[in-house]
Formats: sequence, C-alpha cells, structure tokens
Amino acid sequence: MANGLTYARTTTTPEATKQLAATLAPYLHAGDTVVLNGDLGAGKTQFVQGLAAALGVRGAVTSPTFNILLEYHDGRLPLYHYDLYRLDERWQLEDIDYYSAIDGYGDGVAFVEWAEKFPEDMPYDYLEITITADAEGTRRIVAHSYGKRSRQLLCVWANDSKSRLGKCKL
Ligand code: ADP
Ligand code: MG
Repeated sequence: MANGLTYARTTTTPEATKQLAATLAPYLHAGDTVVLNGDLGAGKTQFVQGLAAALGVRGAVTSPTFNILLEYHDGRLPLYHYDLYRLDERWQLEDIDYYSAIDGYGDGVAFVEWAEKFPEDMPYDYLEITITADAEGTRRIVAHSYGKRSRQLLCVWANDSKSRLGKCKL
C-alpha cells in the first residue's frame, strides 16, 4: 500500500522477541489491530506473550490454536488474541466476533495469527508483523503498516529508543 512504512529487527532469543513486543505496548490504542505472519513455530505467540506482559496481563498467555480466541481483561487494554489456523470457513469468523474486533472501533487491541487464511476479511487498517526463522534461535521481524492509524502506530513505535526499529517522520 502507498505510504506504508517498513521496519525490521533481528532477535536472537525468545526473550528478545518478547522485549521488542513489550516496546509496542505503550503506544497501542483501543481498536488497533496487529496481524502476525510466519510459519508454525516462528514466534508469533512469543511476541504476543511479551506484549501482554507489558500491557499488565498477569496470568499465563498461551497459544489460542485450540480455542481460536483467548482474551485478557486485566491489562491496560483488553487483549483479543486470535489464531485462525484451525478455521476453514468464513462464516466461523462471525461466531468469534472477529469482525467487531478488527473494525477499528473495538474496546481493546486484536492480535491475529493466520489472518492471511481469510484474505477477504483482512482488517481495514492494521500493522503487519512478519516473523521469519533465519538460523536456529534467530528471527527476522518485519513490521509494515497498512493504513493511516497503523502508520502512526509504527512511527511512534519506531521512535521508541528501546525498540531500535529506526527513526520515522509522520
Ligand atoms: P508461533 O506462534 O509462530 O507458531 P511460538 O511463538 O508458539 O510460534 O513458538 C516459537 C518457538 O521458537 C518457541 O519455542 C521459542 O522458544 C522459539 N524461538 C527460538 N528463537 C526465538 C526468537 N528469537 N524469537 C521467538 N521465538 C524463538
Ligand atoms: Mg502461535
């Protein structure tokens, strides 16, 4: 998309991936949607775990592969963690309130693994984070913005010195 921004980082441990995710947490607003791409075992759930801890979620954050949606309401913002891997039909998205979680007007933030399974149902405005395994333990994490709000989000995140994503001008 025109005007999209891209930033990349490499992490060498799961902890570093969680720490990077934690630096995104302060900038999230209600209605924000983040799509996580990457093969099984890439580190998508690890990323959400770091993010959730930084939002103040106290309980364990596990993979929603079997529940499809796991939600956490004890952090600064409600966190809706979706994993669409096991869904096959578009109508199933209605049952899990997917559309209201990603329409930009939700009360919390939505993090979605395997959103690309439903290309016709992508959010209108979202931050895409793609994680690729390089060598063992090493992950390349690329963030790209699709839309105005996610561009702003990526920009403030990039300007966070702890994220080390790089500088950005809005
Ligand atoms: P996904 O949700 O993408 O299927 P998970 O986050 O559940 O993947 O699992 C990622 C696995 O990769 C974990 O076992 C984690 O310990 C391991 N790992 C190794 N190096 C990294 C890294 N740099 N960042 C994230 N995870 C890593
Ligand atoms: Mg996962």
